[in-house]
Amino acid sequence: MSEEKLSFQAEVSRLLDIVAHSLYSNKEIFLRELISNASDACDRLRYAALTQPELTADDPDFKIDLTLDTDAKTLTIADNGIGMNREDLVENLGTIARSGTAAFMDQLDSKQDGTNLIGQFGVGFYSSYMVADKVSVISRRAGEDQAWSWVSDGRGEFTIGEAEDAPKRGTRITLHLREDQAEFADPMRLRTIVKTYSDHIPIPISLREGDKEPESLNTASAIWTRPKSEITDAQYTEFYHHVAHAFDEPWERMHFKAEGMIEYTGLLFIPASKPFDLFHPDRKHGVKLYVRRVFITDDCAELIPPYLRFLRGVIDTEDLPLNISREMLQHNPLLTKIRNGVAKRVVSELTKKAEKDPEAFEKFWNDFGAVLKEGIYEDDGQRAALLKLARFRSTTAEGMTTLADYVSRMKEGQDAIYYISGADGENIKRSPQLEGFAAKGVEVLLFSDPVDEFWITSIPDFEGKAFKSVTRGGADLGKIGGAEKDEKEGEEETGSGDTNVDSLIAFVKLTLKEQVKDVRASERLTESAVCLVADEGDIDINLERILKQHNQ
Ligand code: ADP
Ligand code: MG
Repeated sequence: MSEEKLSFQAEVSRLLDIVAHSLYSNKEIFLRELISNASDACDRLRYAALTQPELTADDPDFKIDLTLDTDAKTLTIADNGIGMNREDLVENLGTIARSGTAAFMDQLDSKQDGTNLIGQFGVGFYSSYMVADKVSVISRRAGEDQAWSWVSDGRGEFTIGEAEDAPKRGTRITLHLREDQAEFADPMRLRTIVKTYSDHIPIPISLREGDKEPESLNTASAIWTRPKSEITDAQYTEFYHHVAHAFDEPWERMHFKAEGMIEYTGLLFIPASKPFDLFHPDRKHGVKLYVRRVFITDDCAELIPPYLRFLRGVIDTEDLPLNISREMLQHNPLLTKIRNGVAKRVVSELTKKAEKDPEAFEKFWNDFGAVLKEGIYEDDGQRAALLKLARFRSTTAEGMTTLADYVSRMKEGQDAIYYISGADGENIKRSPQLEGFAAKGVEVLLFSDPVDEFWITSIPDFEGKAFKSVTRGGADLGKIGGAEKDEKEGEEETGSGDTNVDSLIAFVKLTLKEQVKDVRASERLTESAVCLVADEGDIDINLERILKQHNQ
């Protein structure tokens, strides 16, 4: 039998070193990670069997079996899921493939406190080395003849070779428990851990100690199919951790059933903190698609609109065919209906939350507002609701303001919603363009998210009030706030009526030539001598800056 010794990728070695020496107190999560992997493996095989039924024909019932050998101090986790061949083992258990673990490593470089971070990110399979000093994996990929063995003490190398005594399909992982981790050889302890972290797993989990009868440990029904009243907050949270690979308390959860033309159940979560890859173009989709309890894909771009990409959870529908291929999901009219239905539900839930608990909503907005605003130009159906939800900083408001509140504070004679955009809220607040507005007490919204430049070009107004950039020409300050009414309407004319100013303007124009379109006397300045403005109809200054950065 041929065996080969291979080295871990350098990052894995480093990670394993941290894991093995970590004093992280919550070591029991290793079992959650291994059960979670076993469950994912069953889901993947169930999906593969939709088109290749022979893969599961001789053993159609998925299961996860824990076996405890108290004498040998080993704990074995076996599943009859998809399994891994040699290549899979090398790739999955020898490199840092998953995004959560990669994020862990990134954070490590900046913060160094690995122990805390293990709890925050989880390190998947590698967390076994918190409790074991040797791990052996025997696996056979469904449909393949050869089984493979992977063994490592987690110190730099692993051995890979052909395996003889192997399950018919799936993966068997044996942990040789460390001397000081004997507590995990206690069936009572294991029972509690499985109940705490893995009760939501929709596959039966059993525990067998020595030669005794196996006992069943979990409810084994998909959590989203159960009535809400029978699910505890802790169970919801554990499911969220599993489905989202997250480790925080979700900020909000939505468990609902849509009935009528199309039927689907949703269990969706909004994380309490910003996922690190929210703006990465190659991020994974966070919501899994099931059809009648069968996992179909976690990579369906059509299921959730991009502006709700922070959502995590599952959608399970009765109405798609089980044998749907991933290609058939593209431009599927049924999926479009589900997407619109989900969007409507989520936006209306956010609206309720914003009314009920404005402070909590503001926290959400700080994390995800920039993403949500993409919906203002992307989703015709939710545009109006999203504009109402949107929060902005402004020159005079304390904290954040809604557009409706801004409108209610508009000055007499003011008929537009003024805004100024720039990359950094504090910096734009000091723009000379704002001086005239400040002098008249006119509030100006501060647009500091790049996305503001995009939605604002497609939305002419809010409740009949036009949006106007203060950096554009013709800021109609003269009409606002009766008392200081200025007869000259200076901005509209090239000349100012004052000969000194006129000759200054002529001089500036001659000096700058083609670099400027026009030079005008302005009312918007009270302290600064000059400022740049864009003409009405021309591209906004900040947008021009953003486009230049992207070489447009
Ligand atoms: P993650 O589950 O987030 O991908 P893990 O470190 O837990 O990260 O697992 C790494 C990979 O190893 C998984 O993505 C999967 O491809 C593979 N794997 C782990 N356990 C199993 C298993 N029991 N059966 C099949 N594949 C597995
Ligand atoms: Mg995992």
